[in-house]
Amino acid sequence: MSKRLTVANRDQCVGCFSCMYACSRTFRRAGSTNKAALRVRVYSGVEGAFSLRTCLRCAEPDCAAACPAGALVVQPQGGVRLEKERCISCGACVRACVLKALQWDEEERIPLPCVHCGTCARFCPNNVLTLTEEA
Ligand code: SF4
Ligand code: SF4
Repeated sequence: MSKRLTVANRDQCVGCFSCMYACSRTFRRAGSTNKAALRVRVYSGVEGAFSLRTCLRCAEPDCAAACPAGALVVQPQGGVRLEKERCISCGACVRACVLKALQWDEEERIPLPCVHCGTCARFCPNNVLTLTEEA
């Protein structure tokens, strides 16, 4: 069994960005949302409407297939792990993700793959995010 980050109650998102802060702070020691492995966006012109972009832990990820350097290693349970020293900062992985779920660190110029740890879900005040068990 493995766990996958899932958007359980999209309608309950209030756009507080607590999830993004939690991820960014936990993994990159960043005091901003800039280094989060998920993204919450406001639908422009629609009050109170937010979109959440999270990694689906694809079994055959397009991001890994697009990487010319072999820097994204597909994991047995799906999803990818970054081998940072191999990354050439081309951004092909982020462009290949049709869901726009793979985020980009502008400072280090590397992708930010989600590890499905659930830290973001624990900091959400409205239980919008959860970890689901998968076979
Ligand atoms: S940015 Fe790095 S991980 Fe992404 S495709 Fe390019 S070399 Fe691979
Ligand atoms: S599950 Fe973990 S790595 Fe993925 S977005 Fe949430 S905090 Fe970040």
